[in-house]
Amino acid sequence: MLGLNPLFSQSTDLSPSEKWVIQQIEKNKVQYEKTSMAIWELAELGFQEEKSTLILQDLFKNQGFKVTTGQEGMSTAFIAEYGEGKPVIGFLAEFDALPGLSQKVSSNIEPLVERAPGHACGHHLFGTGSAASAIALKEWMIKEKIKGTIRVYGTPAEEGGGGKVFMARAGYMDDVDAVLTWHPASRNDASAESSLAIISAKFTFKGVSAHAAMAPWRGRSALDGVEAMNDMVNMMREHIEPDSRIHYAITNGSMAPNVVPAKAEVYYIVRHPEMKEVVRLFERIKKCAKGAAIGTETEVSEDIISGYYNILINETLASLMHQKLTKIGGVSYTAQEKIFANELINSFPPGDYKPEDALKIEKFRIEERGGPASSDVGDVSWVTPTASIAAATWVPGTVAHSWQAVASGGSSIGVGGMLVAAKTMAISAMELFNNPTMLQKAKDEKLKRTGSDFKYKSLVGDRLPPFDFMSGNDPRKK
Ligand SMILES: [Zn+2]
Ligand SMILES: [Zn+2]
Repeated sequence: MLGLNPLFSQSTDLSPSEKWVIQQIEKNKVQYEKTSMAIWELAELGFQEEKSTLILQDLFKNQGFKVTTGQEGMSTAFIAEYGEGKPVIGFLAEFDALPGLSQKVSSNIEPLVERAPGHACGHHLFGTGSAASAIALKEWMIKEKIKGTIRVYGTPAEEGGGGKVFMARAGYMDDVDAVLTWHPASRNDASAESSLAIISAKFTFKGVSAHAAMAPWRGRSALDGVEAMNDMVNMMREHIEPDSRIHYAITNGSMAPNVVPAKAEVYYIVRHPEMKEVVRLFERIKKCAKGAAIGTETEVSEDIISGYYNILINETLASLMHQKLTKIGGVSYTAQEKIFANELINSFPPGDYKPEDALKIEKFRIEERGGPASSDVGDVSWVTPTASIAAATWVPGTVAHSWQAVASGGSSIGVGGMLVAAKTMAISAMELFNNPTMLQKAKDEKLKRTGSDFKYKSLVGDRLPPFDFMSGNDPRKK
């Protein structure tokens, strides 16, 4: 592991209380480094983050936060809260890892434990950074006698299980005035950027087994059902909006060609920039399943695994965070970190990547539609005004879900990016506590974007959290 980097390019126009809050984070950074690295080493998968969640919960308890756990039957979920009354400002904290991505802090592919999970999306930093921010904010609330509540949502299983969806569905976020969050990245960026809404579901076909040569007329093939459904969906592709995405994997075909299969399963993911269109597309896919079942004389049933809204941007909050991120500045590397960064950059396909870019703050953009992926932050953003920043916890040019992301995120470079996020979130939240007009503006903007008759309804119906989504042969990729 590399040493801690004390250098940040801070501009001088921070107010005295902002400087004070930043000092609270700086003062405890060794503790936050240790916390994030402990979670990095544990690398627990979604809904199995038993030890990681306890590390974060203990951190909050030791700081006088009230901690409740087990929301919606999710044993690794928690809510940590300090203060009372309005306004309520929420932070999000993730801590789940990804399967098969174990990696040392090294510029070569070297698993820490062969085939074990790894923190390739930086959620060990995500959870710890949000905690660092909330704790500093709490200190400030005490010192300045600020009224209101700071609440941190410990949200399990972002990588497919969608912990936030179940917390939002149960109403845990209904009284929050605004949510500020962040995500590890290879750049510093507070742009208002949406994401793709998504529904994923498994379709199970049931047929009748028979000897495929001796009595095939006695059988009805469940695999025929799957294939007919896929054919129809593939024909449907010509008649959907171009920015729709439909992917599938046959998760249960058949075991032997000489048996007419009685059971088969196909796993679908559908995405679109707009939640309403995802719902419409999913209904059309269901028709393909039904039609396939009728034609092949099989039966079909579907099970929605996950459903996330697209992120509803909030320009008011995003520009606030951009302004604060610019004040905080990006991450500057020590000489040793620069060497490591250049080694990692050499492992990327050719591109214009420089360690110095971690210092930059990206120009503010507004992307109302789409985005590269899907996130359960989407549901949060339709319940309460939400903004998120990206902080450079990874060497410029690193892509999420790669071994390089695990290596960067496990080094002091990751900690440097985490502190940028923690400080930005803290001083942005201070502004919201101090400036009710801005908070109201964020709420008015959200209402304008959703329409006043909008009522949040989760896309997953009334299903339980998919606790087993990561077990078995789960093909889902975020
Ligand atoms: Zn991820
Ligand atoms: Zn992530």
